[in-house]
Amino acid sequence: MAAYKPTIGLEIHTILKTQTKMFCGCLNVPDEKQPNANICPICMAHPGTLPTINKEAVEKVIKLGIALNSQIAEVSKFDRKNYFYPDLPKAYQLSQYDQPLVSGGELNGIRLRRIHLEEDAARLLHDEKIKSTLVDFNRAGVPLMELVTEPDVTNGKQATDFAKELQLIMRYLGISDADMEKGHMRIEANLSLSADEKLGTKVEVKNLNSFKAVGDAIDYEIKRQTEFLDKGEKIIQETRGWDDKNKKTVSQRLKEEAHDYRYFPEPDLPSLNIKELFDSEKIKMEMPELPAQKRERFAKQYGLNKDQSGMLVENKLMAGYFEESASELEELAPGANFQSLFNYLTSDLKGLMKEGEVDFGEKLKISPEYFARLIFLISKNELNSRMTKDILAEMFKTGLNPEDVIKLKGLDETVSEKSLSEIIDSVISENPKAIEDYKKGQENVIQFLIGKAMQKLKGRGNPDQLRDLFKGEIK
Ligand code: ADP
Ligand code: MG
Ligand code: ZN
Repeated sequence: MAAYKPTIGLEIHTILKTQTKMFCGCLNVPDEKQPNANICPICMAHPGTLPTINKEAVEKVIKLGIALNSQIAEVSKFDRKNYFYPDLPKAYQLSQYDQPLVSGGELNGIRLRRIHLEEDAARLLHDEKIKSTLVDFNRAGVPLMELVTEPDVTNGKQATDFAKELQLIMRYLGISDADMEKGHMRIEANLSLSADEKLGTKVEVKNLNSFKAVGDAIDYEIKRQTEFLDKGEKIIQETRGWDDKNKKTVSQRLKEEAHDYRYFPEPDLPSLNIKELFDSEKIKMEMPELPAQKRERFAKQYGLNKDQSGMLVENKLMAGYFEESASELEELAPGANFQSLFNYLTSDLKGLMKEGEVDFGEKLKISPEYFARLIFLISKNELNSRMTKDILAEMFKTGLNPEDVIKLKGLDETVSEKSLSEIIDSVISENPKAIEDYKKGQENVIQFLIGKAMQKLKGRGNPDQLRDLFKGEIK
């Protein structure tokens, strides 16, 4: 098998989170369930209507451009991209051709070509029952941002890493929810193989509905094209779709059928003097800390490794929660070690949250302050792991502070020697079979007895102490 060099460029469309649509006053609710709830004569393309530019959408694209170290255009404009399809009532899409808002820039070592703004199309619903196709215009005219990379990607993993980082940046900037499953973020991959310096014929892969599909489709396509070239066959320029069920790409459209869009400047919109309309210095100043910076800072400031800081930063709200808890903990115990905070946050607390379908945000009842207090008590060796679990679960349910939970559950009452030995005795007399097994040499039975005793103690008691007591009692 000969070695070919894969060349991959990505085209990523993202629905922006704005109050209203791109060129009219309709609400921008891309997931609206009620069909055609947010429509008006402008986004329905009634004759005589005129578009106006949504400044909020333009500003959001500029924000991303600044975050990615791109050049922001001084002047930009919109163009008509003509094609005929039932999801496009005007028979042209307002897009940007030769003067995109943003050009250049770089992310994860992949150069960016451009970022421009356009409008989304309507959704077609093929209804089997009535054997007909319905059109829902809620998404028609919603602001859609397109980012195009240079062909710098060489494999599936690199493509998914790029797309994930872009998604995270967009979420940090608050410009989009960028959910792939909901179609807020859609990725297309252009791919070719070459045996020498000359780029090969490219194939465009669509219908990639998850990050995994992006990686899988690219790796599949590299393999398919390699086998083709090895057989001496030619790659044809075409659009292929990813079949997620059968894990392969299938041909959808050949180049011969490709459109000529007859782009021309939109006469009903003024060109945009970006320099005059936006204060990019101010936007820069107000830029939030971006994921890459936060990862680095978290690692340094809290003594976490790369994977740990990455795990926190992956969720902006979780990163915020960690940071607030850490500052509370630092107040309780100056010079505190944050490893245990990280561990309890990412395993125990996250576990409870997953079970209860609660996210970091309003629904989580435990305040960072109380969470820090719990970690503080653990660090003083005042709680055994069983008690910690119970207290955390109670805090999760009620939002109470850990000290109150301890009082409420009676966990602070010290157990007298006398009641402890009574409990040991009753566990022994209630479990004759276990005692017999233990005497026969089944050492691990002691674990079962300790568990029984702790149940009676309602979670109090120290397992090591109980083990000694049992061993002393059963001879
Ligand atoms: P088109 O005009 O067909 O949309 P573009 O030149 O605009 O093609 O490029 C679209 C995307 O395809 C970009 O991400 C670009 O990096 C990528 N691309 C261009 N040529 C190739 C090639 N030969 N192999 C792989 N990707 C390519
Ligand atoms: Mg293209
Ligand atoms: Zn409208």
